Amino acid sequence: MDFKELQEKVVANAINYWKKYNVVIDQDFSLLKLYEELWEYSQAVLIHRKKSRPEKFLPENESKEEVAKELADVVWMAIVNAHVFWIDLEEALSKKWIKK
Ligand SMILES: [Mg+2]
Repeated sequence: MDFKELQEKVVANAINYWKKYNVVIDQDFSLLKLYEELWEYSQAVLIHRKKSRPEKFLPENESKEEVAKELADVVWMAIVNAHVFWIDLEEALSKKWIKK
């Protein structure tokens, strides 16, 4: 699967997912949702690093899996943001981080 195909599938999945909750994915929603996912990723990292309340601690493999899931959510919402702002994320990544 190439990057564009991945993006298309991720966006289609997001639209279908939020449709069942009657949420329209627009620029405001996408930005706020990205912040929410960043917060969840931060929380997962803090738990994984045992820098949270002890009652939140998980076994090492489970906490790392949670970090991976939340980072995937961040990337998911970054891709959705690119979609709603009509940004070619592959091109933007390439311009910014590869072709320097
Ligand atoms: Mg999440």
